[in-house]
Amino acid sequence: MQKKYVPLLLFFALLLVFAAHLGARLALSEPAFSLACAQEKRVYLTFDDGPSTVVTNSILDTLRREQIRATFFIVSDRVAGREETLGRIAREGHTLGVHSATHRYEEIYASDEALLADAETCAGVIRRVTGVTPHLYRFPGGGWDAARRSVLLEKKGYRVVRWNAECGDATAGATADELVETAIETSRGKNTVVLLMHDSAYRKTTAEALPRIIEYFRGQGYAFCAY
Ligand SMILES: [Zn+2]
Repeated sequence: MQKKYVPLLLFFALLLVFAAHLGARLALSEPAFSLACAQEKRVYLTFDDGPSTVVTNSILDTLRREQIRATFFIVSDRVAGREETLGRIAREGHTLGVHSATHRYEEIYASDEALLADAETCAGVIRRVTGVTPHLYRFPGGGWDAARRSVLLEKKGYRVVRWNAECGDATAGATADELVETAIETSRGKNTVVLLMHDSAYRKTTAEALPRIIEYFRGQGYAFCAY
């Protein structure tokens, strides 16, 4: 081998060592998460409408205790004064998505332009506060003309996330027991569960029910995943 290639070889060897080191660190920080989500039975816990002063921290405490990651769909008009809470969601490894700026259906769905502008406003706030650029979108109120508009949002780089199970916390006065029951009923027989929940002051029972909802899915052999 010619001598002039030695520095080049050394450089590549160092690069390899560095890459292996980085790989090991990544693997160490996220082993359970990536392995678990390759499992057949998966549940995505998703929380709409936050951040909230009353409920978000309680939900985050439970998720941290249980070592679970979830997905939060944010309403950006509710962020002012709760920047620290929004930041905590991101810092603790959860995924942030766009839910809307205002959650006012008439304005958001008035036109395609209005919908996209609303999504961009929300994404801008999330980016400014957390440094994270969100790539997920969930329609407020389930969406109007959702199939066609999903294509529009996807063209803007969003993945539209719907749900196939819920805990029923949109029903006023539902007790924690009822939320657990509804989560069980609506997810029965599904290998991949995307569970709709809410993170707002009106839904204190959601935070109360969450430990039991987690216990149920764990008992059924589900892995907890975030997008
Ligand atoms: Zn909502």
